[in-house]
Amino acid sequence: MPETTIPELPQELWRAGKLELAHGVTHLLQVMRVALAGMGKYLAEVESRGTEDLFGYGSAASWLADVARISRGDAQDMVNRALALNPAPSVGGAGAVFAPATAAAADDGAIGEQHIDLILDILRKIPSDVPMDERDGVEKILADLARNAGPKEIAEVGADLLAHLDPDGNEPKDPEPKPPRREVFVERRKDGFWKLSGLLDPETGARTAAALDAFGAKRPVDEFGQADHRTMPQRRGDAWADLLDLAIACPDQPGTSGYRTLVHVTVGLDALKTGLGTACLDFVGRITAREARLAACDCLMIPVVLGAAGEPLDVGRMKRFVTPAQRRALNVRDGGCAFPGCHRAPKHCHAHHIRHWADGGPTDLRNLVLLCSFHHRLIHHGDWQVRMAPDGIPEFVPPQYLDPLQVPRRNTLHRVAT
Ligand SMILES: [Zn+2]
Ligand SMILES: [Zn+2]
Repeated sequence: MPETTIPELPQELWRAGKLELAHGVTHLLQVMRVALAGMGKYLAEVESRGTEDLFGYGSAASWLADVARISRGDAQDMVNRALALNPAPSVGGAGAVFAPATAAAADDGAIGEQHIDLILDILRKIPSDVPMDERDGVEKILADLARNAGPKEIAEVGADLLAHLDPDGNEPKDPEPKPPRREVFVERRKDGFWKLSGLLDPETGARTAAALDAFGAKRPVDEFGQADHRTMPQRRGDAWADLLDLAIACPDQPGTSGYRTLVHVTVGLDALKTGLGTACLDFVGRITAREARLAACDCLMIPVVLGAAGEPLDVGRMKRFVTPAQRRALNVRDGGCAFPGCHRAPKHCHAHHIRHWADGGPTDLRNLVLLCSFHHRLIHHGDWQVRMAPDGIPEFVPPQYLDPLQVPRRNTLHRVAT
């Protein structure tokens, strides 16, 4: 068990001998490393319980970035380390640890973030056909080495070990690709996520890549100095969702705020009002009533609302659709996602009902606000509140843990400075 108490700092450091100085530095370094490993356990627990359920954020990294006031990239690095060094959640108890020997060294405070990242990087390069015990052996060698060596030595030994495991590098999986054709597979997995795969002919493939790259371009640094730290696959995933929103948009269809809804969500009126219980989504089956409330907010999916006896209700069906004219007025007023600091343009936004139509909120401009899909979700699931200021511009009240005084904020990015 490493000694982790913080030593009392001598009153007069200038009197300290050089041994005391050296001991102070190495000891505090160890304390910091033990503390980081301990924090990783909390992060892994937050991640396994679901950051969305706990705090309303889409990922532990975006939550940590806000709580710690650090960049999204640094937060993502911390979460990645935490997940690699702690048991993966699995049914009926703790699962396997990706890098157990490294985790032990980190718990002892013997290695730091740079050592950990280097080892994880090498482990991820081990081809998947290498037997488990060989891979574990490599990890043990590197973790033991890291307790006494620096990054350069770890990288060199790691490269040697990798070369020994896999002298020819990765073999192409399919040396003779099948003649190109178009196939797309979408499969729903047990955990509710969907797996998308397929094969596209050269022209369609090139157009797909161009469209995903164009829509997945990095966002500019925002007014708080936050850069876009999404990985390329993450940006392409977001681009895919944006493309779908655009593809199903049908401005000619009156009364549907430009969304031709393709999917039904069936939900009881009580569940829709309280957000408690479950609802049923076409093709998918049960979803939480909270998700149904979000999906029904801008009628991205057609809500089929059921009464107590299971009979379909007509809850202000005509009133809840945003008319094209209202939508144009909203686009002009908010100029894009109204959440403070968000750059997203109107075409990527949903019209959120500040007071949900299921609770009797009207579909008029004073009750509507444009939100991108990320911030729409944050408002529904998180602790931010949105309200209409007396001057008719929406403003956002931060949760108490971010701002104890809860001073309302506005998005000033879409407004031309006057
Ligand atoms: Zn909403
Ligand atoms: Zn936004």
